[in-house]
Amino acid sequence: MQTWRTGTRLPLAVDALARDASDPAVERLRTAFGGDPVAVEERLVGEPPRRARRLRFASGGELLLQDGVVAAVTFHVVPAPGVSRGLDVTAWLGATDDTLDALHAAVGTRRGFGGLGTPYFVLDEAYARCDYQDRRGWKEPGNLRAIVVSLEQPGRDSQPDADFCTVCVDLLVRGPGDVMDVDATVAALATAVADGRLRADPSRVPLADLLPLAASGLVDRVEAQQTCATCGTVLCLTLPRGADPTLVRTSLDGARRRPMEPLPPVEAWGDADRIAAARDAMRYVDHEPGAWFLVEERGALFLDARYVVSTMADDSALVRLDEDELAAYRDEGHDYLSTLARRIHDRGPHREGSEFRDRDLYRGPEARRLRDEVSAAIRDHTWIASQRRR
Ligand SMILES: [Zn+2]
Repeated sequence: MQTWRTGTRLPLAVDALARDASDPAVERLRTAFGGDPVAVEERLVGEPPRRARRLRFASGGELLLQDGVVAAVTFHVVPAPGVSRGLDVTAWLGATDDTLDALHAAVGTRRGFGGLGTPYFVLDEAYARCDYQDRRGWKEPGNLRAIVVSLEQPGRDSQPDADFCTVCVDLLVRGPGDVMDVDATVAALATAVADGRLRADPSRVPLADLLPLAASGLVDRVEAQQTCATCGTVLCLTLPRGADPTLVRTSLDGARRRPMEPLPPVEAWGDADRIAAARDAMRYVDHEPGAWFLVEERGALFLDARYVVSTMADDSALVRLDEDELAAYRDEGHDYLSTLARRIHDRGPHREGSEFRDRDLYRGPEARRLRDEVSAAIRDHTWIASQRRR
């Protein structure tokens, strides 16, 4: 039952969403929050920029506007910086306490879990995200930090309050006229990747290759993607040919849906050092769609084979071909690798007693590096495949 409409004060927040600041619905919410804000902050976000404005009220309420329109309403239970109190959210929702079950009983609507297990409630077209101190905190009273109401679904859409992430927003460097300074932004992003504030997506262009690739004129657009370790936003820096560069902030889902151009071989655009580095790097050799990839690194061959973990999940194993397997591959070629991949699939490396369990390098200490390198080798192969199709 939708008790949130009648039994809570959440409609005040939901009705203000997507309205501009002068709308009566926004006026009502401001009045409920106590009139004038005690702190107002404004910043430019992304490129082309939007203007994000954050109004904090003495009651613990907060409004976030994007280009003058309400994008999120936050109930801070733990006082936000610069505000002395938090909002009594149990009173606002008529809940017995701030555990997820108690809030659920008060709201009376469907709940879901977004990325990183963040719980939320569905309020018609809107979502109320519940930020707890830690993942298990929702079972014990006193752990709720804030409730954020917006039209963006947690886990699927980029969250408006990420516009004020203190880690990733200011990595975009602006020059004269507030226009993005691409060279300085690339440098700032690279520093943040190096110190772990951002994580680069290895299946996309490395930041260091972005400018040389754009300068080569061989591609219509190049894009590097890196994810903020703090807010989970993916920063997509795109250099299109003959158009202004952009920096789009999106969710993991949104980033995956963005087009990926095939890349020309490094010899066509890289300098001598970059070409030498590519020679030592892992490279694509062969593949069978949906089943396996064969890559080579300094003379050794590795098979990346997909296998099914359960009806809900699959994974892949990375196995270095031993002497017998190399001999069989020399004799039988591509077909032998399909047979071997089938055996890995049947003898799932996730199972105790599988002979591939110990051989699976994705279970070893270098798993992260190897996954990144295989991704990069496959990414470079995409261009080769597209050239063959032409
Ligand atoms: Zn961030």
